Amino acid sequence: MRPRKIPQRKCVACQQMMPKKELIRIVRSPEGEINIDLTGKKPGRGAYLCGKVGCFKLAKKSKAFERALKAPVGSEIYDRLEADFIQVEDEFQSNKELVNDHDDGE
Ligand SMILES: [Zn+2]
Repeated sequence: MRPRKIPQRKCVACQQMMPKKELIRIVRSPEGEINIDLTGKKPGRGAYLCGKVGCFKLAKKSKAFERALKAPVGSEIYDRLEADFIQVEDEFQSNKELVNDHDDGE
């Protein structure tokens, strides 16, 4: 069996490369709306963030989403995303455990 190639993405806050499923996607839709995309399939420009509130706060502080999404992101949008982020974090972490397919190491 050949090892599957796992797509890697970079967290916009801490700049760490991680497997895509370890990251939460933030998407700017063609209509210009910015939302969290847990499916990873919504159309638009995406930014990835590892599923940690600490990284969200870092992104907020450094305005990482503005750079990654190439659009102005108002502080009210960051506030809304942060609230959503905290909500989805639990769901995200438990989903991750469900799809825990025999990673090597650890
Ligand atoms: Zn991060």
